[in-house]
This record gives sequence, C-alpha cells and structure tokens, in this order.
Amino acid sequence: MTLGNLHAPSGSTEFHAPAPPAVRLAYVLRHFRLAYAAVPEELSVGYPETHPHLEIADAASGFFQAKAPYPPAPNWREWQGQQIPVFFDLTPEKPLLELLPSNRARIHADLISAAFYLLSGWQEYFSAERDQHGRFPYAASVQQRYGFVAVPVVNYYFDILRTAVEHITGQQALARRWGANAAPFAAFITHDIDNCQSAWKSEGKAALRGGQIARFGRLLVRRLQGRDAWNNLEEVQAETGRWGAKSTFFFLGNPRRAANGTRNADYDLTKPRFQQRIRNLASAGAEVATHGSLGTAQNASQLQQEKAKLPVAALGARFHYLSWEPRQTPQVVAAAGLAYDSTLGFAEHFGFRNSYCLPFHPFDFEYGKAFDFLEIPLNVMDTTLHHPNYLQLAPDEIGPALRPMFEQIERFGGVCTVLWHNENFAPQNQKNGPRQFHELLHYLHGRGAAFVNGTDILNWSGTTTPKS
Ligand SMILES: [Zn+2]
Repeated sequence: MTLGNLHAPSGSTEFHAPAPPAVRLAYVLRHFRLAYAAVPEELSVGYPETHPHLEIADAASGFFQAKAPYPPAPNWREWQGQQIPVFFDLTPEKPLLELLPSNRARIHADLISAAFYLLSGWQEYFSAERDQHGRFPYAASVQQRYGFVAVPVVNYYFDILRTAVEHITGQQALARRWGANAAPFAAFITHDIDNCQSAWKSEGKAALRGGQIARFGRLLVRRLQGRDAWNNLEEVQAETGRWGAKSTFFFLGNPRRAANGTRNADYDLTKPRFQQRIRNLASAGAEVATHGSLGTAQNASQLQQEKAKLPVAALGARFHYLSWEPRQTPQVVAAAGLAYDSTLGFAEHFGFRNSYCLPFHPFDFEYGKAFDFLEIPLNVMDTTLHHPNYLQLAPDEIGPALRPMFEQIERFGGVCTVLWHNENFAPQNQKNGPRQFHELLHYLHGRGAAFVNGTDILNWSGTTTPKS
C-alpha cells in the first residue's frame, strides 16, 4: 500500500456545509447509544418537524453552514447540581427538559448541535490558531474562555437525553460498565517513551558543576553499562503492575531530530536488543503502540513506517509533543491503519479537550461522517502538572487539583487516560515523579477503576481492528 501526504481540504465544494442537521444527529446519537446500554432503536430523536418521541429545539440557525470557529456564548444552566454551559440555547426562560404525557419529551435547547460542536472538535478545525508546535492552543479554546475544561459537558448533555429517554421508554438506561467485574469507570495508564539513556547527562552536568568528578565518572560508567536512570521500562511496568494495571507503551520509531532541531527518540528501537526488550514487555502483559515522531501527524507513510519498526503489532498511536493538526491528522491515523489514537488532550491543562470522558470516533469534516478509528482522550499528562510552560503545581497540590476531574469521569463511567513518561519514574524527580504517580494510582485503585488498555477499550466500543 502506498500512502502519499494528505492535504487539508481547501474551500472545495464537498467541503461546503459538511455537517447538515441529519449528519449532526446521526453522529451524536451514535455516541449516545455507545454510552448507554439498551436505548431502543425505534425511539426517535430529532427536530420538531419530524414529530419524534424526543423533540430537540432547532436553535443552531446557520452556524454549521458557515465556517466560524466559535458559536454565540453559552447560557449557564443547572443540571443535577452542576452548572453547565449550554450552547445553542435560545430560550433560557424555558426549562431545559420538559417531560410530556404519552411518552414524549422536549428539550428546549439544541443539545444535538451543542454536543456535535464540542465532540467533533469544530473549534479547532475552523480556527487558524496554532502554537509553536503547530497545536491548537488551550488559550484559544471555548473550554478556556468559559472555564469548563475539567467538566465533560457532552456527558451532561447525554445525561439530559438519557433522562428524557427513560421517561419515554419507562426503562432505565444505564451507563455501560467496565471489565469482568463491571467496574463503574476505567483507567488507561500509558507511557510515552522519548528518552531511555539521557538521564546521566542532566545528572552529570550537575555533578560537574558541583566539582564531583568521581560522581560524574560513576554516572558515565553506569550509562555505558546500560543502567541509565531512564533505562527503566521494566521498572515502570512493575510499578504500574503493583496496582493491577497494564502499562501501554508508546515507542518512538525515529531517533533523528526534527528539521527544526527538536528531539525525537534518544534510542534506536530497531537495535536487536531493544526489539527483544519490547517483545519481553509485551509477553509480560504490556501493550505496545507507536509514538509518532515530529512530522508524522501530517505524514501517513512515515507514521506507517515507524509503526512497522515495532516487533509486535501496534493498534494505537499517540503523537510526540501531542502534535495534532485537526485538518490532517485524523486522516493520517486512519490511513496508517491504526485502530485507536490517544493524543487529544490539552498539553497546557488537564481535562477534556472534546468535553467528553468516553472514547469516541472523530468526525471527518471532509466526508461528513465518523472515522472508524477510536479516539481515547488524554486527560492528564505528567508534564502538564509541572513545567515552565504549563501548570506549576506543588506536589501536594496535584491530588486536590485532579480530584474533581476524576469524580466527573467516575460519575459518567468514563475512561481516565493518564500519561506518565518513563523519565518521570526516576527517583530524583520529586515534582511530578514516581511518588505523584503512586498517589494517582492509589486514588484510582481505591475508587474501583478497572485498569484497561487500548485493546480492552476497542472491545468495549465494538471497534474492529483494521487489517494492514
Ligand atoms: Zn513524546
């Protein structure tokens, strides 16, 4: 199979009005049915002219025919004790949900359009804002503007739909549960492997600055013996395993720097010893996935080449630096034959980039339908918590900062995706290091999360694995 570079759609005709009402409705209801068990197929949801069981106010008037990134400001509404922003809400004086006799209900805001807007990532597709790494910046998002990054707003919209559906059918629509023990929510523990043999450099510099020549010598010898503090993949797997969790490792298949000088891997995974090591991790229960190097988010053939360097089949990807060009990367993931991606979180802030705490199928703006591959949104990355460019939380601030987000995920039976780099298992890191990872897993374990990997999540969603 040959794969050329993919191009962003320009203002061509097929790109015009990619999301008419029927397309938005089908996309949103597909995810609603994935979130809740037993929503009957014959139950109709739609705009007033179709006289459905569940009537949705038609209030997006022309927004989706234009290409503006931002809709009018949302109204804040209360739902089950939580304030939530409601977009496309033209009648705030009316109740959000009206339960009607003879098995009907009405929602007085266009929750279908609002859910579609957030879940599809419309804002980043139509915004031209990008940061120095080519990413859509958190600062340009509606989540930042209206302050709801840690609230999975689409799950609240679905909860309103669920309440209406239960009234119409007279039956409970329960959130689907996780794993053999029917756990109330899930956690996906992942590690991006950027560096395996460079810890000695930073430690060595400190030793030299302090005039500790003997210590420098010991570090160098340890490095040459392959005992660098970051050469710790087996220890990472063991630490994760202590909690009954399975590590998913994302390996970089490119040891060369990017054109702008930014680093990719400091190791070469094609070396026979490294290949054997990956096989050993996989035999011990780890999932192996590809960590697309800089540039691959816009280059399917390069991504596929890097994936092919892995000694075991990779189903998933996450891009280095969380690179993601909304107009190209979904097509790249699909073309490279991947079943899932787990890149979509904001580097600058933990929370919900698509305002949703369950896996979903990204929207294809070119063809007006869902992609087959699954996005497993990334909720919290170690570097987000403590980094000069991101948050700078003290160690004892991390738990309290994350807990409300975890509670939201638990409330809706979602997946909590954690990214902890192997570098941050080195004991000298006391800011966002092994101790903070330990506390985080201790919390998730204590709340009864099912620890899952990408394969488990694909099975949960019924997503089939592409053949490549
Ligand atoms: Zn990386």
